[in-house]
Amino acid sequence: MVEINLPTPIEKLHFEGMEFFLKRDDLISLEFSGNKARKLFSFFNSDMKNIHTLISYGSTQSNAMYSLSVLAKIRGLRFFYYTTHLNAFLKNNPHGNYLEALKNGMELIVSEDKPLKSNFLEDDGILFIEEGGRDSYANNGLKILADEIVEWRDKNQLSNLSIFLPSGTGTTALFLQKNIKQHDIKVYTTPCVGDEFYLLEQFGMLSSDKKDYPTILKSPKKYHFGKLYRESYEIWLKLHDETHIEFDMVYDPIGFLTLMQHKELFSENLLYIHQGGLIGNVSMLERYKRKFDENIKHKR
Ligand SMILES: *Cc1c(COP(=O)(O)O)cnc(C)c1O
Repeated sequence: MVEINLPTPIEKLHFEGMEFFLKRDDLISLEFSGNKARKLFSFFNSDMKNIHTLISYGSTQSNAMYSLSVLAKIRGLRFFYYTTHLNAFLKNNPHGNYLEALKNGMELIVSEDKPLKSNFLEDDGILFIEEGGRDSYANNGLKILADEIVEWRDKNQLSNLSIFLPSGTGTTALFLQKNIKQHDIKVYTTPCVGDEFYLLEQFGMLSSDKKDYPTILKSPKKYHFGKLYRESYEIWLKLHDETHIEFDMVYDPIGFLTLMQHKELFSENLLYIHQGGLIGNVSMLERYKRKFDENIKHKR
């Protein structure tokens, strides 16, 4: 069984002379990755007695893929995962999220065609989850996150609280803003996949109420998802040095690079959400080491 530790702790940290709070959603469980545990929360205890198969799709490095494999394992479901491409290196040297998902029994289907939700019916015992867990069921777990934050703010009598978290599909940021807006807390985010227009489009698929939309901060430049950037690697190493916390290597570097260009956010109480993703770091770190090896020799 998976142990879920909620509420997660919040710590005060310093980085580059700035002070902020960190919500440690990386500590939710060993098996589940941060915000994916929040998004999938409603499936942990729900009655799924007619469901025998879980289907999703996306990249073979994805944190969501790994978390879905854990869900399938604990709920005794077959798990089919569609991807358009499995690169030869990963195929021959499984590691990171891919390796762990295989260990959990994931059955990979390499296909040009993206599976369509409308072809898979719950009546037939199939639960279909969109790429990255972009779906309305995610609201349940993110409402709990919002409640935890409000309770912590009130207990510590913090005024002027804002939240920041980097986005992929934007599901986490959107449902957080939706559930916390009535408490006068503003959620800021930045896109790590595509640009701000792509992110707005993603928001639109989840809510038509603009009041639910987080405020989008532009990143310093356009980053291609999952690509390696020297400045990303450097800020990740620096974060580790200064906070002694391991952050995710795909989203968090872009998150902090963006925050460093919006230092005005630190003038209020700022809460950064650690969204987990550390199993994926195994493959990212390997790639970073191969590309920018001299930094590693210097730092670790
Ligand atoms: C999945 C993930 C995100 C993006 O979450 P969205 O809800 O898709 O925006 C951010 N950080 C980490 C570590 C993740 O695993």
